[in-house]
Amino acid sequence: QRLKEGLSKTKKGITEKIDNVLKSYGKIDEELFEELEEILITSDVGVNTTMDIIDNLRQRVKSKKISDPLMVKEEIKDIIADMLQGEEEKLNIDPSPAIILVVGVNGVGKTTTIGKLANKFKKEGKSVLLAAGDTFRAAAIDQLEVWAQRVGTDIIKHSEGADPGAVIYDAINAAKSRNTDILICDTAGRLHNKKNLMNELGKVFKIVEREYPNASKEILLVVDATTGQNAIQQAKTFKEVANITGIALTKLDGTAKGGVILAVKNELNVPVKLIGVGEKMEDLQEFNAKDFANALFE
Ligand code: GDP
Repeated sequence: QRLKEGLSKTKKGITEKIDNVLKSYGKIDEELFEELEEILITSDVGVNTTMDIIDNLRQRVKSKKISDPLMVKEEIKDIIADMLQGEEEKLNIDPSPAIILVVGVNGVGKTTTIGKLANKFKKEGKSVLLAAGDTFRAAAIDQLEVWAQRVGTDIIKHSEGADPGAVIYDAINAAKSRNTDILICDTAGRLHNKKNLMNELGKVFKIVEREYPNASKEILLVVDATTGQNAIQQAKTFKEVANITGIALTKLDGTAKGGVILAVKNELNVPVKLIGVGEKMEDLQEFNAKDFANALFE
């Protein structure tokens, strides 16, 4: 239900338009395919991904001998569900101890996602520790601390300007000595210079490898769905510098262009593991392709 509400703008932007087009056609012809194509492209599904969907749809319509436009919707839903289906979409946190490194540029919802995740894990009975690894902004440290208090977890922090590697090092040692199940680390995501980013993240990754070799590891990239194709570009850049194991796509509730999730999935080859559908604690969900497609097309 939360998912359906969270996707309401995208439903308006994609599903309702598709419905209207399908209703206005008496038969399935090339013009109909073109109109569907247009809807998907304007919803940030991305050109390549849209082409894949429409090609697939043409084939299905042909092989199933579908002639009623109203039957097309179910086919689109299935194609999208298939497309969103990935290999393994769970966070890499078993067995414990686990460490989640959260990366992404400022403003995408990194801190919020960390807070929501911490809350979810605590509710599941796991022990959680946060690390304020974005030391470049005092606000980032303060904000994470607010979330730590709200959720009721401890936080390891240094002052602004401190070495992020030192924060992560301390946090790992604290997690070890406290037998913490899951350590969630914020990182700085300054994308203005790829080399800087690589250096900054590289140092952190090295420390994690060295200090926490046996921990389950997730490198979670947070991207903002409302930024559309920009989100794809960011993800591509981060993929070049880090071994991203999962994506959290935030603010899906804030955009009619939630179709971007298809482009993320199709063009990046990294599983979307989490989606953000609101600002509240419980508005972070594990991504499930079928549920998503159902919520979108119901
Ligand atoms: P950071 O700079 O990446 O750490 O970003 P923040 O976590 O501070 O989030 C930036 C803004 O986005 C805040 O106002 C959050 O409440 C908001 N936000 C984060 N995730 C979501 C979401 O899934 N939906 C909505 N509507 N807002 C979100």
